[in-house]
Amino acid sequence: MNLPTCRFCTAKLISFCDLGQSPLSNSFLEESQLQTKETFYPLHAYVCEVCHLVQLDEFESPKNIFTNYAYFSSYSETWLKHCQEYTNQVISRFKIDHNKKVIEIASNDGYLLKYFKEKEIPVLGIEPAENVALVAESSGIPTVKSFFNSELAQILKSEDKQADLLICNNVLAHVPNLNNFIAGLKILLKPKGVITLEFPSLTKLIEQNQFDTIYHEHFSYFSFLTAEKIFSHHGLTLFDVDELNTHGGSLRIYVKHQENTENSISENVSRVKLMEKNGGMDKISSYLSFTKQVEETKRKLYSFLAEKKQTGKSIAAYGAPAKGNTLLNYCNIGIDLIDYTVDLNPEKQGRYLPGTHIPIFHPDKIKDTKPDYLLILPWNIKNEIIEQMKHIYKWGGEFIIPIPTVMLQQ
Ligand SMILES: [Zn+2]
Repeated sequence: MNLPTCRFCTAKLISFCDLGQSPLSNSFLEESQLQTKETFYPLHAYVCEVCHLVQLDEFESPKNIFTNYAYFSSYSETWLKHCQEYTNQVISRFKIDHNKKVIEIASNDGYLLKYFKEKEIPVLGIEPAENVALVAESSGIPTVKSFFNSELAQILKSEDKQADLLICNNVLAHVPNLNNFIAGLKILLKPKGVITLEFPSLTKLIEQNQFDTIYHEHFSYFSFLTAEKIFSHHGLTLFDVDELNTHGGSLRIYVKHQENTENSISENVSRVKLMEKNGGMDKISSYLSFTKQVEETKRKLYSFLAEKKQTGKSIAAYGAPAKGNTLLNYCNIGIDLIDYTVDLNPEKQGRYLPGTHIPIFHPDKIKDTKPDYLLILPWNIKNEIIEQMKHIYKWGGEFIIPIPTVMLQQ
């Protein structure tokens, strides 16, 4: 294997966290596939010693990962509420009305653009997963069925389809050719336009032990400091930042053309940069102790579950998110410890988790089987899940939260 180099600045990479071998985390299995060979790929994150971008090698092309993606954002209430608040906020701050154009990259089933459409603001979605894009179009959201890159941006620009507001939520991590993608954002943005991007914070990932958010579909992991370097290289300025609670701690950055003199730099920018510097995010040495932290988390979680099981207790899981697959595969937690998991998404029910082969059922299975413990895999929305499943308390059930460190929620 060639020694990998940074996908942004081509400098040398060093090991950040080696999570062993794992199947692609969204490759859920049908029953008929359980006896066939599964493909495992190395799940090894590296950090660039110059720009500190944390990154994975690209083992599977986005085309194979996202063409029939079994993820529909519309299923999490917490996320929808977050989107609605965002819409109201940007419409008033940037005076978005029916004369403006809002474009979203990786627009999914139109879950976000529909809030703009309700207010008669012209929208355009860009979404590569055809099955998901069709759902968006059937609810009236015009959608370009394609991956976003500089070439597509040029085409849209030539068709007079530049954006006043360009939205990229949780997509930057999925982009293998980062420089081409960000150059495309610059092309698609009107001279006075604004881009907002949300991505999980690398600072939070390290602080809160969120190693399970590392999976093959997430190629890159950003701090604010690193994001600023990358956007600046492409002629774009980060003029504001919000710290969000979504996905265990995310950043929402506000981006404009370097040439644009409107929207002065907010104090939030210097505050977040200082906080990251105080946390050592500008020093390569701070990235090198993460592996130890992750190994300790693995040992604690495994022995916690094994001990419960040893005393005759039953454990089920809630959710089938990508992060759950990293967690379970890396920690060697299989059907010897977890009887089954449940998920509200009908696309996942009746299938099996990749690698561990834990079966996925409808959430009603919980009240039928009354497990002693419920391990919450999408811990980022644990409050929503605890509220929805609080009937487990009736039979003395308890919730297990695996991250940042395993704990019971009684
Ligand atoms: Zn780099």
